[in-house]
Amino acid sequence: MLNLVIFGAPGSGKGTQSDRLIEAFGLHHISTGEVLRDHISRGTELGRIANSYISKGQLIPDDLMIRVLEHLIDSNEDYARDGVIFDGFPRTIPQAIALNKLMADHGEKIAAVIGLEVDEDELIKRMLNRGKQTGRADDNLETITNRLKVYHNQTSPLRDFYIEQGIYHAINGNGSVDSIFASIKESLAKAL
Ligand code: AMP
Repeated sequence: MLNLVIFGAPGSGKGTQSDRLIEAFGLHHISTGEVLRDHISRGTELGRIANSYISKGQLIPDDLMIRVLEHLIDSNEDYARDGVIFDGFPRTIPQAIALNKLMADHGEKIAAVIGLEVDEDELIKRMLNRGKQTGRADDNLETITNRLKVYHNQTSPLRDFYIEQGIYHAINGNGSVDSIFASIKESLAKAL
């Protein structure tokens, strides 16, 4: 069973490369950002709470986010059967610890963490572009600036966490979608 984490700053191309990986490996996609945006558009209680954080570029609190993820995993048998790519989760050390535990409880593990490493000016350019093209509400300069700060403070320490576990694979995430995907495939072929 292949379970992967795609990791990187906002705008690093996690969603785009996830689509390619899903096609190549037949994985299920769990994007916590997409799950939350779906709740916001449906006007649920979780959506209301999530929006108050997302609109400021802040993270949803760990205990809530972990509960949401646990519920997702436990309510879909296909995930355990086919494997999952986690996109946007974990974003903090407590979330990473919770994910390891959740995997272990299901007799699974994270096989590899694909770390998309992208220059900061490129990240900003991509997110502003996405904001224009999709209307995504948090892709505005003020929120982007905060999301990058939050990434540096709370999420980037996960790089060392996974390096220590020996499963972090650094990928140069600058360049074309095709060339980045080729690097990911090459790296996974060596690792798996
Ligand atoms: P994303 O689509 O992954 O860029 O996520 C968009 C927003 O959703 C983030 O800026 C956070 O506010 C929230 N979010 C998504 N995933 C998480 C997570 N694992 N922990 C906390 N907040 C999250």
